[in-house]
Amino acid sequence: MLDSYGRIIDYLRISVTDRCNMRCVYCMPEDGIPKLDHCDILTYDEIIRTVRIMSGTGIRKIKITGGEPLVRKGVTGLIGELKSIPGIEQVTITTNGTLLEENLEALVRAGVDGINVSIDSLDQKNYAAVTRKDLLADALRGLGAALEAGLNVKINCVPVSPDEDILALAELARDNPLQVRFIEIMPLGEGKRFPLRSEDELTELLVSRFGPVLSAGPVAGNGPAKYVTFEGFRGNIGFISAISHKFCSSCNRLRLTADGYIKTCLQFDTGCFLRPLLRDGSEDGLIRDTIVRAVYEKPRCHEFAPGGGNGDVRLMSQIGG
Ligand code: SAM
Ligand code: SF4
Repeated sequence: MLDSYGRIIDYLRISVTDRCNMRCVYCMPEDGIPKLDHCDILTYDEIIRTVRIMSGTGIRKIKITGGEPLVRKGVTGLIGELKSIPGIEQVTITTNGTLLEENLEALVRAGVDGINVSIDSLDQKNYAAVTRKDLLADALRGLGAALEAGLNVKINCVPVSPDEDILALAELARDNPLQVRFIEIMPLGEGKRFPLRSEDELTELLVSRFGPVLSAGPVAGNGPAKYVTFEGFRGNIGFISAISHKFCSSCNRLRLTADGYIKTCLQFDTGCFLRPLLRDGSEDGLIRDTIVRAVYEKPRCHEFAPGGGNGDVRLMSQIGG
């Protein structure tokens, strides 16, 4: 699919639930958010049908997200189903890792192509302060199991913890063949309460500990991460810097929310609501045309500024990151 700016849209993030077993301070309020009714959440059959239709328009890569995707029963089976759709080349998942160990075997069986594990600190207290749950040990067991299984693993960190925690996470890429990626905070919902720690600022911090930046080899991925490495590192450090190094001109993504809205930009609620069409007997052709029209109108770029922005129509946990 092409949008009106000539961007090729081939990547879909699917949020399978708005629920989560954690309450990260930049993502969700402490008391959570009003939950969607079960009947308002797309069924797996509806998601599979949507992806079948979208694979016909050029969607090739899928990321399963949430909320926390592993809290939804049967999500590993969904991954297996999506993998078997002609045209879908890759299905990956992003998770907080706390339920990963018990789901790993099923994920491997389903053929998952990669796992992003979100861990913001390796310090138990600081991790609990960010996530409001004392579940670091579970997340680390999940991470370890994924590495042991030989899966393609990336660690995502929103840098809100002290410098020492950021350096300790970077050391994981020194000691293991994986990517540790620092994601700039998006000023959306709870995220507005946190200052931006920019790519340049973090680079300076990393250089002070690990020496000069070296260029990384090619890293497989679907998105805008820029990778570097340092002397003696087995893996790489990535930066996803949507605020300080805006990458909208090469944006290739769409998002499908748990309640069936195709969102064409993280900030704006532009897109189309598929759920009614999926439930009123509409034919695939109508659904496809609706998506293609919405994609054509994908905004040129976001207008978030550090520390503020509009875009509060849906919170990050409802969009899927
Ligand atoms: N629960 C899963 C997880 O944590 O990976 C999947 C959903 S979560 C919304 C996806 C990603 O979005 C996580 O890496 C999380 O850290 C990130 N995220 C949440 N709120 C954010 C914000 N305001 N700015 C930047 N990233 C954010
Ligand atoms: Fe849950 Fe992920 Fe949001 Fe944390 S970032 S509250 S784990 S959805």
